[in-house]
Amino acid sequence: MALKGVIFDIKKFAVHDGPGIRTTIFFKGCPMDCWWCHNPESHSTEPETITREIFTGTSSKACYERKELIGKEITLEEAMDEILKDQVFYEISNGGVTFSGGEPLLQSEFLLAILKKSKENNLHTTLDTSGCASSNILKKISNFVDLFLYDMKLVDEEKHKKYTGKSNNTIKQNLEMLTKAGQQVIIRIPIIPTINDSLDDVKQIGEFLSKLKIIRVELLPFHKIGEDKYKKLNKINRMKDIRKPTKEHMRTIKERLEKYGLLVKIEE
Ligand code: SF4
Repeated sequence: MALKGVIFDIKKFAVHDGPGIRTTIFFKGCPMDCWWCHNPESHSTEPETITREIFTGTSSKACYERKELIGKEITLEEAMDEILKDQVFYEISNGGVTFSGGEPLLQSEFLLAILKKSKENNLHTTLDTSGCASSNILKKISNFVDLFLYDMKLVDEEKHKKYTGKSNNTIKQNLEMLTKAGQQVIIRIPIIPTINDSLDDVKQIGEFLSKLKIIRVELLPFHKIGEDKYKKLNKINRMKDIRKPTKEHMRTIKERLEKYGLLVKIEE
């Protein structure tokens, strides 16, 4: 039987998911439940159908429902066909393919197979991960990954459990393992007001990262892009009263992290 994965999107000509022009494949399923997640449609590992109410006409009662399928199964061959369509763009821009999610490591068999195939085709591979997976799986997969985009949300374990639903012990250990093995790692930190943007949170992150060999830190300011998705999925949005951080606050966090000898960039 053909090996299949479940994905919820394919982004072509992506320029923020690693170097150059890339194709990003979004895997469905995530073991975490971050309060600020802007891809809530990625959480379940299964394809799911949602019902949208579309309003028409002038009367508030004039509406119809539209079914929308989120996620689909894809074979390894279909995924590679899609990826290889843009090979010429990867070559001229030093780009490649990125696997994101959700959490791609949750579908480790499919991920490993697609990574191997990508390397057989000489593609640069990037894995965008929360690091929330078994160390053995990550070790096996890391042989076929050129660059990790590794999320770091909080160092304090209790806060991490509260706001993501998971302990961060394995996540921290996995990051230490990758950096000790000489893997190329960019750390991505979502900056979430009232959750991980206090001086103490930033100090803990700075101290932890200062001991590791990483390329740089990218700060991702919280935004409200995912808000509509929560409504569509009938899920509670726990961040509706939180505003995005100001540019000045982002600069302050950047400067504080730089004091730990880290190269820090603010992403928009
Ligand atoms: S790890 Fe990423 S995809 Fe998973 S819940 Fe958190 S923000 Fe969403």
